[in-house]
Amino acid sequence: MMASKPLYKRVMFKISGEGLMGDREFGLDGPTVTRIAREIQTVTETGVQVCLVIGGGNIFRGVKGTAEGMERTSADYMGMLATVINALALQNACERAGLQTRVQSAIPMDMVCEPYIRRRAIRHMEKGRIVIFAAGTGNPFFTTDTAAALRAVEMNCDVLVKGTHVDGVYSADPRKVRDAERHDRLSFTDVLARDLQVMDATAIALCRENDLPILVFNLREEGAFARVLSGAGRYTIIEPAEEGS
Ligand code: UDP
Repeated sequence: MMASKPLYKRVMFKISGEGLMGDREFGLDGPTVTRIAREIQTVTETGVQVCLVIGGGNIFRGVKGTAEGMERTSADYMGMLATVINALALQNACERAGLQTRVQSAIPMDMVCEPYIRRRAIRHMEKGRIVIFAAGTGNPFFTTDTAAALRAVEMNCDVLVKGTHVDGVYSADPRKVRDAERHDRLSFTDVLARDLQVMDATAIALCRENDLPILVFNLREEGAFARVLSGAGRYTIIEPAEEGS
């Protein structure tokens, strides 16, 4: 299925670990991973270059380890390794969908994938390959949201797209608060000042400093990824103040 003309040339797609979990409580859901790969394939058919950052929260989160008495840096490395597992799962699904892919890890793992090399990643995308960035930023005390913002800026992406379980940014979690207000458009300042839960503050600050818009949409909705990239469907866009609300 071809979507209408996309608004962006190069896109960073951040998928949280939970996004790969489907209705499970933990780990990977095969049909969900396969569907996401198909959605990426549909978007690449429109000529958009796509790179991805995958989270690891469906397997392990550093803060969880810390709560159980682990030292933070070790726990965070475990979280980063979890993102590599997810990246390999998504790589496999993308290749089954007929896409060419490369995984690049911020923590070198020669036997498993390429190390992160910026210029090489750009070249892959120019050749139409999907680049999946694994192991976050490679540093403890960061999140994969920040990794997505960082890689998006490094790759000169036009937008950072975040797939979540709701159709945009709300004043509170709409699954818990019935009259939570939904926003179509926000400025970075709005997000930081109102402490809206989109991404962590480091990721938002990095996007703001580099004028990189963030688009938030519902990953669970079939076909939504292609729709929102052509300006259709429901999503929230976060932009610099003069363009935002
Ligand atoms: N992590 C890290 N540095 C990074 C990215 C991730 O230490 O640059 C660790 C951190 O422990 C985090 C875990 O990896 O809890 C999984 O990433 P994240 O929580 O961002 O995944 P998501 O919520 O997107 O599934």
